[in-house]
Amino acid sequence: MLNASQYIKEHIRTVENWPQQGVMFRDITPLLQDPKTFRVLIDLFVHRYMDAKLDMVAGLDARGFIIGSVLAYELNLGFVPIRKKGKLPFTTLSEQYELEYGSATVELHADACKPGDRVVLIDDLIATGGTMMAGKKLLERLGAEVVEGAVIVDLPELGGSKLLKSSGLQLYTVCD
Ligand code: AMP
Repeated sequence: MLNASQYIKEHIRTVENWPQQGVMFRDITPLLQDPKTFRVLIDLFVHRYMDAKLDMVAGLDARGFIIGSVLAYELNLGFVPIRKKGKLPFTTLSEQYELEYGSATVELHADACKPGDRVVLIDDLIATGGTMMAGKKLLERLGAEVVEGAVIVDLPELGGSKLLKSSGLQLYTVCD
């Protein structure tokens, strides 16, 4: 019998050369489409964090919003979106980070959380780790404590999870 991590992995599709040549895109839409798999995934996260004394769930644009907001609802917590540049309407903090070609910026509302808040940071995947690192920095600039970063997929060969761990961030990854 498959364990939960293998079961989830079986419902993630790899699309070759998308959005550009050489990228193996991990598409989680089959997982989301299947109610049983979606529930298995959310239940893993809920059980991991139900006694973690969290104050908030933060999610990274855009697939971190899907998992993070359901998790927040289940834990009876608020949800904080960390968005790509130019999407948040109120006063924002920004963090720029390097991509293979060029750079990207993520933003957080200045009143998204309070100093001392215990936050879990959710995304679908860690590749180079730049996105999660930028999200962590934004939350920490507001004085929050990022208790853990959590994703469905880690691509360890790209070095992101190693980098994040060496920065002191605890990680939870469901599969690779
Ligand atoms: P990185 O900042 O390099 O760790 O990239 C992680 C972010 O980019 C996440 O928000 C992912 O949704 C997205 N991403 C990067 N590489 C992939 C991939 N191979 N498949 C799916 N999403 C990816």
